[in-house]
Amino acid sequence: MGNGPAESLNGGMMMGSSWDQEVDVVVVGSGAGGMLTALVAAKNRAEVLIVEKAAQWGGTSATSGGGIWIPGSDQALAAGFEDNLDDAFRYVRGLSAANVPDANIRAYVDNAAAMLRWVTANTQIVYTAQPYPDYHAENPGGSPTGYRTHLPELFDGKLLGDDLKTQRFPSPAASLFGYLNWTFAETYQLLYRSKGWAMGLARNMAKYWFDWPFRFSSRKDRRLTLGNALTAGLRLALNQQGVPLWLSTPMQDLVIENGRVTGLVVERDGRPWRIRARKGVVLAAGGFDKNQAMRDAHAPLYGNAYLSGGVTSNTGDAIRVGQAIGAGTMNLQSAWAAPVFYVPGEDRGRLVTIERALPGCIMVNQKGKRYLNEAASYHIVGQQMARREAECGDGSPSWMVFDNRYRQDFPMGPLLPMVPDWLQASGVRKIMKKGRTIADLAHAIGVGPDALTRTVERFNAGAAIGEDPEFHRGEAAYDKMYGDYRHQPNPCLRPLTEAPFYAMPIYPGDIGTNGGLTTNARAQVLDAAGDPIGGLYAVGNNAASSMGESYPGAGVTIGPAMTFGYIAARDLTGANI
Ligand SMILES: Cc1cc2nc3c(=O)[nH]c(=O)nc-3n(C[C@H](O)[C@H](O)[C@H](O)COP(=O)(O)OP(=O)(O)OC[C@H]3O[C@@H](n4cnc5c(N)ncnc54)[C@H](O)[C@@H]3O)c2cc1C
Repeated sequence: MGNGPAESLNGGMMMGSSWDQEVDVVVVGSGAGGMLTALVAAKNRAEVLIVEKAAQWGGTSATSGGGIWIPGSDQALAAGFEDNLDDAFRYVRGLSAANVPDANIRAYVDNAAAMLRWVTANTQIVYTAQPYPDYHAENPGGSPTGYRTHLPELFDGKLLGDDLKTQRFPSPAASLFGYLNWTFAETYQLLYRSKGWAMGLARNMAKYWFDWPFRFSSRKDRRLTLGNALTAGLRLALNQQGVPLWLSTPMQDLVIENGRVTGLVVERDGRPWRIRARKGVVLAAGGFDKNQAMRDAHAPLYGNAYLSGGVTSNTGDAIRVGQAIGAGTMNLQSAWAAPVFYVPGEDRGRLVTIERALPGCIMVNQKGKRYLNEAASYHIVGQQMARREAECGDGSPSWMVFDNRYRQDFPMGPLLPMVPDWLQASGVRKIMKKGRTIADLAHAIGVGPDALTRTVERFNAGAAIGEDPEFHRGEAAYDKMYGDYRHQPNPCLRPLTEAPFYAMPIYPGDIGTNGGLTTNARAQVLDAAGDPIGGLYAVGNNAASSMGESYPGAGVTIGPAMTFGYIAARDLTGANI
């Protein structure tokens, strides 16, 4: 540990005690929550440093859809949707957990649009409001027409220079062939193979392969979309502000003096490095996604770290360090639940968003029975699967069962349409099952043939007239969002009739944990008695979510991560930009 004068990041030497470095604000973690916090603090004239544990920056945020749930945005108003913040509050309040204070939900709802206005004014990120229904649109305050979910537009990765090479890759679930990025609009064009899809795909592939000489030095697609576009835009703005981002620099400890956090200890170049934070430390180090021991201890319902879509470096370090200095925690039992496919050899589960709602498929348990509305939000389906497994032991894996027409028309996770079985990736061939009849398929997946045949017959009878009396698939606004709009009377229902039949194992997983350190409406970390710990803030999945155990709409994880980052940065710099 250095004992000489502490060194300022700006190059000046400062007389001091045993610090190796001094800045105003240290942000731990380079996801969307951390980078936005750092950027707002830097714009408010603070000297800021980001420390990142992994060798790549961007966290799960970079691998995500980049969607943010922002009630009452300027973008929504421009699209003709006049929101009401009281409705938005009522909606989230009705879904969130009882132990989440009103003040936290109110702080989010009231500051989200201001945060997005700030991002629009201070970065090159462009967000547009989408006609994407809330996940529980029928609840009081919910929006069936959408316009609370916002998605980022394309971002030109060339602007980042060499920093692009260390940005996290998109999730395998959100890129084609593992390398080609797509926008949300392109997803639909590809999904329905609507007019111009082949030209569009060829154009994007040509752009990728002819991106010389970059193509020789990186696999990365510089046409950035979704979470890559969001985090690249934040990184570019940070670079323009001169904010350093240290990779491979895990936080190990917090330094606390007279009850106040005054700095932290990181590991840098193989040795401890003490950094003083004059104004404060912001913990934005994600959840305990990949920490199996913490899952076993706190979140047994979401018991498998390998199935989480979170990045491998999210191991709950900053939750444990916070606890060690007396911070309280809340809702550690919770996660952003999701059904996932697991391709052997990959380091995460692949989120299954769209496929479940498309016509021609069903999900069954190991007894060959349906037990849920497949088209509900991934969080609801993930929770139901996890509970089924915990209560009956037959939900993990469950099976997505579909017929040949579905197979030809649509993807099923990594299983691509229009590509013969033998040409699918080897990991996909390992998990895909096939049968000439439903009974054959049942044998292949170890399910009773009579039970599966009865399930399909019952489903088919309803689907033929667009009805699902058992689980009401295709009735809610959100179900229809991902159904096939060309298929009527119910865009989510079609009988499974065309042989051969297929099945893919699907698991209860998650896209990250969402219980964490207890924070107040200013994003300050609270101690066990509920009092703020001076100098310490937490945002994103590092903090207990304002959503409790619910998932009100697309973007309710990154939206709050960025909004509370905005609040934290303004609070600790005491400025108003
Ligand atoms: C496929 C997929 C799609 C998704 N789509 C969306 C979406 O569209 N909208 C949405 O709201 N949510 C989405 N999510 C969920 C969302 O990505 C996460 O909830 C969110 O990104 C978490 O943000 P964060 O800033 O808290 O953490 P992260 O983005 O995970 O960043 C945390 C960072 O902290 C670093 N870190 C960890 N420990 C330390 C340490 N000791 N020292 C220093 N650094 C450390 C990590 O390496 C990581 O880089 C999606 C998730 C997946 C997997």
